[in-house]
Amino acid sequence: MSRFLHERYANLVPYVPGEQPRERTYIKLNTNESPFPPSPRAIEAAKREAERLQLYSDPTAKKLNESFAALLGVGTDEVMATNGSDEILNFAFMAFCGKDRPAVFPNITYGFYRVFADLHGIPFTEVPLNKDFSVDVDGLCQKKGTVFLANPNAPTGTALSVREIERILNAHPNDVVVIDEAYVDFGAETCVPLIRRYENLLVTQTFSKSRSMAGARLGFGIAQAPLIADLQAIRNSTNPYNVNRMTMAAGIGAIEDEAQTKKNCEIIIKNREFCTHALRNYGFEVVPSQANFLFAKHPKIGGKALYLALRERGILVRHFETPLLKDYNRITVGSADEVNALLAAIQMILEENK
Ligand code: PMP
Repeated sequence: MSRFLHERYANLVPYVPGEQPRERTYIKLNTNESPFPPSPRAIEAAKREAERLQLYSDPTAKKLNESFAALLGVGTDEVMATNGSDEILNFAFMAFCGKDRPAVFPNITYGFYRVFADLHGIPFTEVPLNKDFSVDVDGLCQKKGTVFLANPNAPTGTALSVREIERILNAHPNDVVVIDEAYVDFGAETCVPLIRRYENLLVTQTFSKSRSMAGARLGFGIAQAPLIADLQAIRNSTNPYNVNRMTMAAGIGAIEDEAQTKKNCEIIIKNREFCTHALRNYGFEVVPSQANFLFAKHPKIGGKALYLALRERGILVRHFETPLLKDYNRITVGSADEVNALLAAIQMILEENK
């Protein structure tokens, strides 16, 4: 830290992204990316747009917003494109939280919520998960403040029903409830239709997972127009060109190829069920997942030891050192070949650990 850093950042503990190794080719099951390439339509559109990179991107992202709004069946003024969904989440912390309005989220959830709260000096309340790792709906209803809920949750993969989320919305009529749907396309129910009835609901989505565009950085906020206008004000006070030209074009291409997105999600869901079953047969405890990853632990081998043994065999999974998570690993569900390679490696590791 230099002597110039302002003291308000002195204790900042930044978010640590999963490893993105360059030194050897791993089977990457550590950051919940898609094993499939983006839609050919997205690739072609991005290539064409590359020829116009001398010009700034459209600061209103008009075509992209229109295209995504039409897909979701909402108004164009009810969506807003951002640089990954991390950016819309950051904007939501800036817009809807403050010293007098804390953030509320589960104690085991996406690690960035805590980082955003700290970054902006926002107090927060963490609500413990139930023993089975499901989200404590009553706990979230009781705590005052702006709620941030990943549905499905991460790194656990469990999801709440829309009805349970409505309970949270009704318990917080004077606060915004942010439902982070980064993984919704893998089997959970979306809350997007609820924006018609709840002025306090903000849904966030990403193109990083089901649409295979993690490297393009594209996310969205979806809410009634006044909430979106608040977020637009923050965006236009931060970086009006937050989504680049190639990403905008690729995003529209991906939206036009909804059939491919659906097909890829179906494959991931099938592979997830297969992998869950196989891991349980090996003695793993696997939390039931509605996402594109599994959260699992084995009674005979620690989380860190398994992570390291898999790494040695060229397979990366995500291990978290925190006391509540350290026995587990979060394993992205990949292609059938990747799942088979993972299972073969695990079988060998368990044999060696007998
Ligand atoms: N929410 C959750 C729950 C996530 O796991 C992630 C991915 N790390 C994000 C949001 C952000 O994803 P992106 O910025 O790539 O849209």
